[in-house]
Amino acid sequence: MNLNILWLFVTPLFFAFGWLAGRIDMKTVIRQAKQLPQRLYDGIEALIDNRTGIASDNIRDIVEQEPQLTELHLSLGKLYRNRGENDIAIKSHTKLLNSQFLISQTEKDKVRLELARDFQNAGLIDRAENLLLKLLESELYSHKAQELLLDIYQQDKNWKDAIDTAKKLATSDYSFHTEVAQFNCELAQEALIKSDNQKALEYINFALEINRKCVRANILLGELFYNQEKFDDALKTWQLVEKQNHLYLPMVIERVFDCYIQLNKIKEGLTLVKGYITLYPQLNLCDILYQKLIAYESTATILEYLRTTIKNHPNSKAASRIIELHINNITPDVSPYTKPDAEIVRHLLLSYNARLARFSCGRCNFKAQTFFWQCPACYEWESISPVSLE
Ligand SMILES: [Zn+2]
Repeated sequence: MNLNILWLFVTPLFFAFGWLAGRIDMKTVIRQAKQLPQRLYDGIEALIDNRTGIASDNIRDIVEQEPQLTELHLSLGKLYRNRGENDIAIKSHTKLLNSQFLISQTEKDKVRLELARDFQNAGLIDRAENLLLKLLESELYSHKAQELLLDIYQQDKNWKDAIDTAKKLATSDYSFHTEVAQFNCELAQEALIKSDNQKALEYINFALEINRKCVRANILLGELFYNQEKFDDALKTWQLVEKQNHLYLPMVIERVFDCYIQLNKIKEGLTLVKGYITLYPQLNLCDILYQKLIAYESTATILEYLRTTIKNHPNSKAASRIIELHINNITPDVSPYTKPDAEIVRHLLLSYNARLARFSCGRCNFKAQTFFWQCPACYEWESISPVSLE
């Protein structure tokens, strides 16, 4: 009996607590909903001001509060990745991929593509590749996955898969012939290092087949002939570089002269290289030749070349060479300080040259002391000029 009376009191009390809890919860929801536009505004404002840390904090709060906003969640992961926080980006995109709010296969594929980018940025190439290979079946993201795979294969120096992928991506608008020729050149280079001349020749021929303007293929072919002591063939091959693109002559001129030395045709060699200097004064060939000509030409003749170079292509290296040639003729009777002073100026000019001479990418303006066939900054092939400038 007592128990029944107790229930009479407890039951309404139970409903009252439930109602109260519901009211409190509703109030929280309404308050948070009112805060949402402000947080979004704050996030956008922070992004505009490049305060990406604050922006990501704001967006993260919104995404936690409103998990159904999957597109915003996707953007949050991208933001983490752009900030270099690859591990957080991976966690964020993985969480989204497992979310109940992602329903269609297309939505899931979109997230997988971003997750693959996160893995790529984090250097987890295998995981990125596995995801992208699965995406090749995707209706919407197959092409994008293949483009990313091409990047990954290049990053991984997996040139064979890079060739296959580039060929699949080729269209009438963009043939990828420059890239495929370069990938074959990379393979040829590897074969040359292993002294596998047969394989190297195969890859060089593939490169020239797909892109007959591929200068690098002829540079490598000349190298192959030279290593086999076929100096005549090496000479003929390297001379083709002038017809393909004379800007690359500085890369072979020294070797061309070496061929003439090996063939005991130094006089012909001198005539040819002097012709190049006259014909292409902008190429800054003088310093390369200076080291060769010094053994065969008079000081007066070399000085004349250097003066011509400085007129057409002012640079501190050529100026230092002029001082170098004069220095030996300076006798102490002129002044005991003349020779040491000239040495100081020569060293200064050389150090300027070492500091300032750069190869420059025509696409992204990246500058480097070493020449690269593929720009390390924008990953474009053949975008770096082979002519170094101060
Ligand atoms: Zn570049």
